[in-house]
Amino acid sequence: MSRYISEALRKLVIERALYSCEYCRIHSENSFFTFHIEHIVSLKHGGKTIPENLAFACPICNLNKGTDIATFVEDVEDVVRFFHPRNDNWDEHFEIQQSGLISHKTLIGASTVKTLNLNHPDSIIERREMIRLKLL
Ligand SMILES: [Zn+2]
Repeated sequence: MSRYISEALRKLVIERALYSCEYCRIHSENSFFTFHIEHIVSLKHGGKTIPENLAFACPICNLNKGTDIATFVEDVEDVVRFFHPRNDNWDEHFEIQQSGLISHKTLIGASTVKTLNLNHPDSIIERREMIRLKLL
């Protein structure tokens, strides 16, 4: 169980993500913050430091996600897993509105939007501005 991420692996993850957060889609060049290489399934839950379990994430998404992998969604009895950047297609679970809001299309999208707080008011304003500037 290693936390170490080699420079080569880091580069692979960043380039594969096209330098954008794999959850909220903000581009790393349009952020003041340094993005993270994130374990999709945390080490604590048995996730490994391998390309299939790593994602590029902005610090807001990564810190909101933490080591969680699922949550409860309104009107659903069981926990619903989060969007998995390696196994799921973003466009099947989410849609960015012109207003900057990220709407969910599935329960997986709903659980991810909720826990990662993808629609924090500041994030919506930021995305709306990026849409206006054609950066998103
Ligand atoms: Zn993000």
